[in-house]
Amino acid sequence: MDLKYKRKNIYEEADQAKLDAIYAFAEDYKAFLNVSKTERGASAEAARQAEAAGFKPFSFSEKLKAGDKRYFINRGKNIFLIRVGTEDVARDGIRIMVAHVDSPRLDLKPNPMYEKDGLCYFKTHYYGGIKKYQWTTIPMALQGVVMLPGGEKKEINIGDEEGDPVFYITDLLPHLSGEQNSKPTAKAIEGESLNAVIGALPLKEDKAADEGADDKEKEKKGKVKDAVLKLLNEKYGMTEIDFQCSELCLVPAGKARDIGFDRALIFAYGHDDKVCAYPEMRAVLDYDSPHTVMAVFADKEETGSEGTTGMQSKVINDVIDTIAASFGANPIEVRYHSKCISADVTAGYDPTYSQAFESRNSAYISCGAAISKYTGARGKSSTNDAPAEYMGFIRDTLDASGVIWQTGELGAIDMGGGGTVAMYIANLGIDTVDIGVPVLSMHAPYELISKADVYSLYEACVAFCK
Ligand code: MN
Ligand code: MN
Repeated sequence: MDLKYKRKNIYEEADQAKLDAIYAFAEDYKAFLNVSKTERGASAEAARQAEAAGFKPFSFSEKLKAGDKRYFINRGKNIFLIRVGTEDVARDGIRIMVAHVDSPRLDLKPNPMYEKDGLCYFKTHYYGGIKKYQWTTIPMALQGVVMLPGGEKKEINIGDEEGDPVFYITDLLPHLSGEQNSKPTAKAIEGESLNAVIGALPLKEDKAADEGADDKEKEKKGKVKDAVLKLLNEKYGMTEIDFQCSELCLVPAGKARDIGFDRALIFAYGHDDKVCAYPEMRAVLDYDSPHTVMAVFADKEETGSEGTTGMQSKVINDVIDTIAASFGANPIEVRYHSKCISADVTAGYDPTYSQAFESRNSAYISCGAAISKYTGARGKSSTNDAPAEYMGFIRDTLDASGVIWQTGELGAIDMGGGGTVAMYIANLGIDTVDIGVPVLSMHAPYELISKADVYSLYEACVAFCK
């Protein structure tokens, strides 16, 4: 009997068959990521895959029965995948898995367009916690929706297809950065400097009228902006005011890629938290279970989980109530007997920045899905602290299926901290624990995860649903 705990590295333990399964799963995950950069993209892709797996749209007024497979897209940005089991839902509850599908990015302001000195720009307002200097001089794609007057919705997606143009935020050249370099990194690039270049070709039509006009007058005329607006109008039928009824954002352009000679790791935008959303979705789509199982893709986690599509919304309760009502069960009983894993990324131990971590309690790359009994900051504020009994249940569940997992605390105590949606589910009276994939460079435009860890979380989700 081994009396000492020792963390295991999945790549060290894996035989060839396991390695093949890990690498194959990673291909599916990358394909999902490439079309799921925003919560809208992820929800639409989940609905598409659910439909393909025989899931049908959910209705709050329907009576569900064992064997039913349903999906519910809440306002395009939050999706619930439900598989109704054969167990008595009042006594067995629901096995709930929650992950968020919004990621840090640059939203367009309501009046984003302007022209200055011959270049046309979008003004942005960053979404989520970012290190602003990381978001300059990288290729950005524009994604989202615009509402035209009368209710027509136009989808915009430019920058990710081969041959598409991209958008770009400039930074000062090193030769002139003496002043900028003397500032702390949080101040080096200001929020109001995150302006993306979107055009440089002026309208030519009334060149004659320009003769004799001074530079100030020319700028006022906004010739490049006029030209860009004309292009937008031709392509989408929109005018400038329509930006005020839009949700458009700039996200890092490009596809997920392997990292390293051995391809053991994945480079991508938005691992936080699609790297947890994808495994939980696959667990629900792939496996039948006697339990009633629900996977939730949440929105607005990066800004506090508020609003109709965030996990503080009553909508999740309404879905649970609908399931309970289908079987004449008391929804209080259903919630009390439900179990939840809140799947969100945790900070992976980064050897280059080891001073920010406490080595014994950090999550390590390739050592499996990391269980965080609590998250939060300082004296464990703003967190769900999972009870020992529930930790014991999770341990037994994962161990019974041979899942390699580890624990994770988000950095050394006084270095900062962070929270996720676990507490909002726990506040409903549902046992909940955090589990997630360790990430390096979290919230950077491109993040790093291990193929072994996303597969470990998939195994953990399957074990939890079984
Ligand atoms: Mn997250
Ligand atoms: Mn995050």
